[in-house]
Amino acid sequence: MKLLQRFILSTLIIISISIFIGLICSNILYVTLVKEKMNNRYLDIAEQLATQMEDHEISLQASSDFLKIMGHSGYQIALVKENGEQIIFGEQFHGNELNDQMRSLFEGENTYHGVKSFKNSYLMMSHFTNDIENTVGTRLELEGEEYALFLRSNNTSFFTEFHLIIIGFIFAVFVSSIIGILLVSRKLTQSLSELTSATQEIANHNYEYTLMIRRKDEIGQLADSFRMMQQKLANTDKARKKFVNNVSHDFQSPLLNIQGYSELLDRELSSSESKKYNNIIQTEAKRLSNLTKQLLILTSIDQGKYLINKKLVRIDEQLHQVVRSMLWRIEEKGLEFKIDLQPVTVYADRSLLMNAWENLIGNAIKYNKEYGEISVQCYEEKSRIIVKIKDTGIGLEEQALEKIFERFYRVDQARNKEGTGLGLSIVREVLSYHNASIEVESNINEGTTFTIVFDVKEV
Ligand code: ATP
Ligand code: MG
Repeated sequence: MKLLQRFILSTLIIISISIFIGLICSNILYVTLVKEKMNNRYLDIAEQLATQMEDHEISLQASSDFLKIMGHSGYQIALVKENGEQIIFGEQFHGNELNDQMRSLFEGENTYHGVKSFKNSYLMMSHFTNDIENTVGTRLELEGEEYALFLRSNNTSFFTEFHLIIIGFIFAVFVSSIIGILLVSRKLTQSLSELTSATQEIANHNYEYTLMIRRKDEIGQLADSFRMMQQKLANTDKARKKFVNNVSHDFQSPLLNIQGYSELLDRELSSSESKKYNNIIQTEAKRLSNLTKQLLILTSIDQGKYLINKKLVRIDEQLHQVVRSMLWRIEEKGLEFKIDLQPVTVYADRSLLMNAWENLIGNAIKYNKEYGEISVQCYEEKSRIIVKIKDTGIGLEEQALEKIFERFYRVDQARNKEGTGLGLSIVREVLSYHNASIEVESNINEGTTFTIVFDVKEV
């Protein structure tokens, strides 16, 4: 069932239940309060009529004329003789049989309380039964003969113009509430349908779709969250396209080189030439393998599939190990290496963290000047573990600082050096996996410092 239909149905059910409850309450009110009051009011009128007619000793004819007028003004009156003969004034009764209690008026009883005791149909509805038993009665004597006078208000006079106004009012309230609920629920379902079509647009990769819902309620909040999600998806999509573009480009150029130089190798070449081309092919193949390795790490971290295997890791030992493995590169460039490593431990994935140090120290060597300096420090301070990797290399410009952690970003100057531009983005991902932060300070031509902070409590 659609939401709108469900809304209307529930409204109708609620209205019906309310009417049912209202009926029960008014019935209780009728039975406990109104019924007796009405009985007494009619009895009062009947008794006053009888007294007046008796006191003024008016004739039967004059009484009849008088009662006829009463009959016209909204009462049903029966004047009954002891032998059962009935004269009716006003609307006829449907049932004319007198019961024992009514007859007892001729046997000394003064009053008959039929309105109060009448139980022909369900509670309040019995009030409208047009039966002579549903009256009040009193004795009276006219021209020396015993009579009983029975009286009730007739149903048409009960429903006066005022009652019509009330019924009109209730009907108008009922109809306008249904129309109101229809309008409100249509507005609500319209917003939901709009959200549904927006979701379908997003599913079809249309991230530009403008959602027109502006509301301050929960649906408005949902629309705001939707817009936020849309923006994030659009950014991710843009980044993904850029990434694929970069990857294809970075794969394409070494592959072209390998293809070109391997074709050259088919020709007759001097041994020095073929050695040179072989070297190029090997370098390009290494570049491809490095790129694939880096990409694999990144995608696995992205998908959260990297089997994170956290153990206690001695950072100082890892840094030592990396420096040792890169010693030949350090010596080749004539770099001066300073290390100050205090024994510090964090809870981390050994190989991921190792990869981060390799990238950072590798950069410090790669982007250093000849005979430059590198210093690597690690220490604990105020329950934080700090690692600093500092070089005296080519440095970075202010605007490059924000971008170096992006995937495939490489500063132009670095283009002539080997690299993929993925190293630092991997470092950032790895560190964020370990709740560690990384900051960089750099001055062009002076050098760069990377500071990594592990919050010990969080690791
Ligand atoms: P990869 O590390 O993937 O082989 P890469 O070194 O070019 O390639 P990143 O490590 O991500 O890529 O570094 C991004 C860019 O930041 C580099 O191209 C370089 O321009 C700059 N950069 C990184 N480290 C330094 C540094 N210590 N000094 C100067 N520039 C740096
Ligand atoms: Mg690098």
